[in-house]
Amino acid sequence: MLLGCIADDFTGATDLANTLVKAGMRTVQSIGVPGPGLDIGETDAIVVALKSRTIPANDAVEQSLQALAWLRAQGARQIVFKYCSTFDSTDAGNIGQVSDALLDAINEDFTIACPAFPATGRSIYKGYLFVGDVLLSESGMQDHPLNPMTDPNLVRVLSRQTEHPVGLVDYTAVREGAPGIRARFAELKKAGVRHAIVDAVLDEDLIEIGAAASDLGLITGGSGVAMGLPENFRRQGFMADNPAPALPGMVGRSVVLAGSCSRMTRKQVAAVSDTWPTFAIDPHAIGRGEDVATAGLTWALERLAKDPDQPVLIYSSADPDTISEIQAAYGRERAGTMVEETLGSIARGLLDDGVNRFVVAGGETSGAVVSALDVRALRIGPEIDPGVPWTEAIGGVPLALALKSGNFGAEDFFAKSLGMLP
Ligand code: ADP
Repeated sequence: MLLGCIADDFTGATDLANTLVKAGMRTVQSIGVPGPGLDIGETDAIVVALKSRTIPANDAVEQSLQALAWLRAQGARQIVFKYCSTFDSTDAGNIGQVSDALLDAINEDFTIACPAFPATGRSIYKGYLFVGDVLLSESGMQDHPLNPMTDPNLVRVLSRQTEHPVGLVDYTAVREGAPGIRARFAELKKAGVRHAIVDAVLDEDLIEIGAAASDLGLITGGSGVAMGLPENFRRQGFMADNPAPALPGMVGRSVVLAGSCSRMTRKQVAAVSDTWPTFAIDPHAIGRGEDVATAGLTWALERLAKDPDQPVLIYSSADPDTISEIQAAYGRERAGTMVEETLGSIARGLLDDGVNRFVVAGGETSGAVVSALDVRALRIGPEIDPGVPWTEAIGGVPLALALKSGNFGAEDFFAKSLGMLP
């Protein structure tokens, strides 16, 4: 095990794991800090997915330190703390506080903070974070319900989350490549800087930043900054050349569960609902106390018994008007939980019957399904569409899972993902 990663949310963890796999690392993602007895097998990188982005800073620090201790016990040589590429945080934390605690725990006094990922429109210049063509504070993120980002200057933002000095590796140094960046690290360290925001305008800058960071015990940022890290280990002879990630070799019945109501998921549902057996979940029926989970499960098992090769679709996805109406009737949170629990319970019933190939649409929905299936860790396989890999559950029954957050994937995602497995 070479690289130990701590991610502050689930889909961010998958994004990072997927990036590492593409750069040639065998990667496992665990859901929370694994308890004892989980045999992960051989791997180059482990990403521990926490849910620490918006919890109180003290709790985020505690969970991150637990993850760190576990990763170090697995032999991690370098630690990555992964957060959102829009630097999602408030003055109360948690990026600065967690970074400081991790530095203290590994006995180091310098790290970088680089959420840039130019390919996905996140670039940093003079310490200012841009989303596409506009500043972070004009990107819509200024209205985020949990962590409004009203200040685009990351040096200032991070300074409010740590009592230590924050500096900048500006683009002049970054353009000089790894040697220039490393020289700037040394200058900043000498000046007492503990956290350095690093400019990055092109993806190739991230490779240089990664190379310059090879000696740092802790690196913090988005998934982009991890792109250059595998090469460091390869150069040092710790890793073989790009092993192709394996698909989960699962033969069996397939189910698609869609709980996302995003525009793309609704298109993906529409793309198969005329030709595949399809079961629509009616939240009102759940609200009336009907056993929708058993009805959906029974329906799916009957269809799958008739034609085991034909995937079935179970969805709750609805348009904004319908959702508003459902939320008005039951409350936003309860409506979400009702649907998530129903989909989770159907997934569990299918698994107990031996169904072993699941495609799930929706971030929260994926969380609910993974928890209902009692999945503790995932081996990350090849990418289906940008940012969404096939994965294989570790530690339980053999199980192939494709978990996508709402807007990810192209319109043919459901058929495409299942079409890859044979
Ligand atoms: P996304 O990744 O698109 O945000 P999520 O699964 O994270 O998708 O969130 C979708 C939320 O909407 C979930 O809590 C889900 O249970 C809820 N939901 C799904 N279908 C409906 C519906 N028909 N009415 C109300 N809420 C729904």
